[in-house]
Amino acid sequence: MFEKLLAGRWIAGPSIQDGIKIAKKVNANMASAILNYLGEDINDMNDVNATVNLYLKLIDSIKSMKINADISLKPTELGLEIDKEVMKQNYVKIVKYAKKKGIFVWLDMEQAPFVDDTIALYKIGLPYKNVGICIQAYLRRSLSDLRYLSKLNSTVRLVKGAYSESPKIAFPSWADVTANYSSLMEYLFKNFSKFTIATHDNSLIEKALGLNEKYKKEVTYAMLNGIRNKYAYRLAAEGNKVSIYVPFGTAWFKYAFRRLREEGGARRFVSILANFRQN
Ligand SMILES: Cc1cc2nc3c(=O)[nH]c(=O)nc-3n(C[C@H](O)[C@H](O)[C@H](O)COP(=O)(O)OP(=O)(O)OC[C@H]3O[C@@H](n4cnc5c(N)ncnc54)[C@H](O)[C@@H]3O)c2cc1C
Repeated sequence: MFEKLLAGRWIAGPSIQDGIKIAKKVNANMASAILNYLGEDINDMNDVNATVNLYLKLIDSIKSMKINADISLKPTELGLEIDKEVMKQNYVKIVKYAKKKGIFVWLDMEQAPFVDDTIALYKIGLPYKNVGICIQAYLRRSLSDLRYLSKLNSTVRLVKGAYSESPKIAFPSWADVTANYSSLMEYLFKNFSKFTIATHDNSLIEKALGLNEKYKKEVTYAMLNGIRNKYAYRLAAEGNKVSIYVPFGTAWFKYAFRRLREEGGARRFVSILANFRQN
């Protein structure tokens, strides 16, 4: 009950069926879904194995119910913090199975210490041609990562970034994050053929729509479920490719905490405070 009140607007519910139900609603509004099974920083191999099995079942459900959906995985759900070899095997197992069923597999990007491992993991999936990776505009390194990923003919989902990072490696001011997002987005238009603009920030979305009149790339506009769905559906009705990221599962706390922090500009307040403390 408590979690429903706190997190219910963002999270589909505890089960695969809950995720599929929301994905159907999303599809009915001419958008595709990105389904994510909630879970991160998993330190128990039994939980990792259960997560992998759940993703295989999810892939079956997407296929059998003819849902238009990608899936999105977190490396720390697959065993990154326990055994990197096992994480790689788990990733390849899911990517191969998804490939067989015609489903696209994203890698979420988590905290900064995991970025190198996540990019290395993504590279392992590239030969299967059904994989994409998230890049965070708040990190100072991200232009260099995009340069590298462009050489690999990658599919990137650009986000602002959701974790608390040190100002040494991330822009502390939200205005600077937005400015960096804008310039990384231009880089995507100039150097990538297919990518996802994942933000609820309408100034960035309007800018992307304008840039695409010039560059004519395969752009998808993606938002998190329960934040600006009506706006997303309007973009879809206007003929744009749109995705809604739909998390489900019982490990909702950290995800909901990040969304609560972002709601109502709380993060901008925190970044102003961080700047003030630095100066
Ligand atoms: C499809 C998708 C996938 C993502 N994947 C990742 C990932 O793998 N790794 C990662 O670090 N981050 C990920 N994120 C989260 C992202 O990094 C941001 O934390 C989040 O999108 C908020 O940033 P914003 O771009 O919407 O900009 P903001 O400047 O935070 O928000 C722009 C406007 O959107 C509205 N808004 C934003 N958030 C909320 C909210 N919670 N409640 C109400 N209104 C809100 C407000 O009107 C706000 O003014 C993802 C986001 C999306 C859309």
